[in-house]
Amino acid sequence: MLYSGLIRKYRQYLPVAEASVITLNEGNTPLLPSIRLVEKFKLPIRLYYKLEGLNPTGSFKDRGMTYAVSKAHESGTRVVVCASTGNTSASAAAYATRGGMQAAVVIPQGKIAFGKLSQAMIHGAKVFQVKGNFDQALEVVKQVAANPKVTLVNSINPYRIEGQKTGAYEIVEALGEAPDYHFIPVGNAGNISAYWAGYQRYLEEGRCTKLPKMVGFQAAGSAPIVLGHPVEHPETVASAIRIGNPASWKMALAAEKESHGFIAAVTDAEILEAFRLVAQLDGYFCEPASAASIAGVLKAAEKGYFKKDELVVCTLTGHGLKDPDNAIKVSEPPFEVEPRAEAVLEKLNL
Ligand SMILES: *Cc1c(COP(=O)(O)O)cnc(C)c1O
Repeated sequence: MLYSGLIRKYRQYLPVAEASVITLNEGNTPLLPSIRLVEKFKLPIRLYYKLEGLNPTGSFKDRGMTYAVSKAHESGTRVVVCASTGNTSASAAAYATRGGMQAAVVIPQGKIAFGKLSQAMIHGAKVFQVKGNFDQALEVVKQVAANPKVTLVNSINPYRIEGQKTGAYEIVEALGEAPDYHFIPVGNAGNISAYWAGYQRYLEEGRCTKLPKMVGFQAAGSAPIVLGHPVEHPETVASAIRIGNPASWKMALAAEKESHGFIAAVTDAEILEAFRLVAQLDGYFCEPASAASIAGVLKAAEKGYFKKDELVVCTLTGHGLKDPDNAIKVSEPPFEVEPRAEAVLEKLNL
């Protein structure tokens, strides 16, 4: 049967009127084994990447957005609004237009990755750039969403989390069991909470026999959960996790505690190194925020955290093409040469 998106595949978990199903056939993303990264660092584990950048708008946000926008459609509202560091707005804009609805996105000033901004714009969203940070943008949209004609589609919308649980379902289906560990970047902390809830549901339903330890990573300059207090001016190169006061803070702490995992910080240098390594060793281009989970794996391995042959899944949350500037910054620049074969051969060290 033709794959037709998450709502139709997981109908029993994501109920909505058929006439309101708004989908871009999101989900069903690959689970790719690491080959050269595990080899190079002699990691004792089996490491898999969940390639969420291969969703239709290039990030996992599509999993929750298909359901949140469908439910908004079903309830009769025709405008969806969100605050975003980029990927939420890209996704909201695409799903809204697919459903014949208007998206309004409020983004913090500056530092939004150009690829993401271009997505919201090309899909016809009304884009508002506020003079403030993400947390201030979120306050604005909460107030806008008090209008009954408007639906908020940030991750405080419970349908977002419901949809995002499908990431865990797919992993259990692909592996036939839950992994030993699930490593994931943490921004607003909706995704770590959703994965944890998703694994728990599949355990209850007998689809797996154990639960993974949930291990989350924040950027050091933007690590409220690790520090135990909000960060007023969060800073990190990983713009998707530049969040000073996470909406799902409590749920993330519950996931950490109940699963016997941990939430820690990685520095921007560690994030950028992991970002480069996964691209150059395993051939997959994710965005810097996604690489926080890989930086975390490398750090945990160094400390002897893993046992031999344990199974680790890393969610690579978004696609690298959204943020090419950082890729260019960490890579070898092009050679400038004369248009002669010798000039090229010379550089190849054959
Ligand atoms: C949204 C996002 C995150 C953070 O997810 P949260 O649910 O906010 O913790 C991480 N990486 C990417 C690419 C994202 O778009």
